[in-house]
Amino acid sequence: MLDILVIAPHPDDAELGAAGAILKFKDEGAKVGVLDLTSGEPTPYGSLEKRAAETASATKILGLDWRENLGLPNRSLENTLEARRELAIVIRRTRPKWLFAPYWIDAHPDHVAATQLVEAARFWAKLTQTDMPGEPWHPQRIFNYYCVHLKHAAQPAFVLDISNYWEKKLAAIRCYHSQFIEGRSAEPPTFLDQLRDEAAYWGKAIGVRYGEPFNCREPIGMTSMQSLI
Ligand SMILES: [Zn+2]
Repeated sequence: MLDILVIAPHPDDAELGAAGAILKFKDEGAKVGVLDLTSGEPTPYGSLEKRAAETASATKILGLDWRENLGLPNRSLENTLEARRELAIVIRRTRPKWLFAPYWIDAHPDHVAATQLVEAARFWAKLTQTDMPGEPWHPQRIFNYYCVHLKHAAQPAFVLDISNYWEKKLAAIRCYHSQFIEGRSAEPPTFLDQLRDEAAYWGKAIGVRYGEPFNCREPIGMTSMQSLI
């Protein structure tokens, strides 16, 4: 049973888009899981073995309660009925209050398909009179994190203060050596420099050191405005 399930098209997307939130949730005592939909391979410098080891290292840094890989096809991810069913079964099994999915606009077809798949599976997970195992379950919210392969000027619904978690987020991202360090230019700004710049930009937008932006298709309800900064 999870409080939060972050669903990622590839191992590393959850880290890039939501590691700050994950670390914060963990500190607040929530049970947090990540479901990677595909292996993410092949990539130019990766292999299935390397990627699995990198994922295990990042999982340890994030302190996740649960992480699985759904084994759907990388580069060919689609919102098929079979994939929707498999994801809905995981949602019924883990029963998270909230889901996190990629932002819905992206150049990477796997990311666009992942968002559609999460939205469809969230709906299917609550179905009764089905041959899917497990009891019906409907996560209250889907929040969208940004891990976008576009020069996209995001307009998030809210920005989370991750100032105290930035270094740990970066450490989790650095675990994916085959993706973010190997084969990339060491000239500044490196890919990791750019991630820091981006986090600092979102921090500046809300008056703190580092921020992590999120979106939501549905209005966000609040019981109090006390935690606003
Ligand atoms: Zn990805």
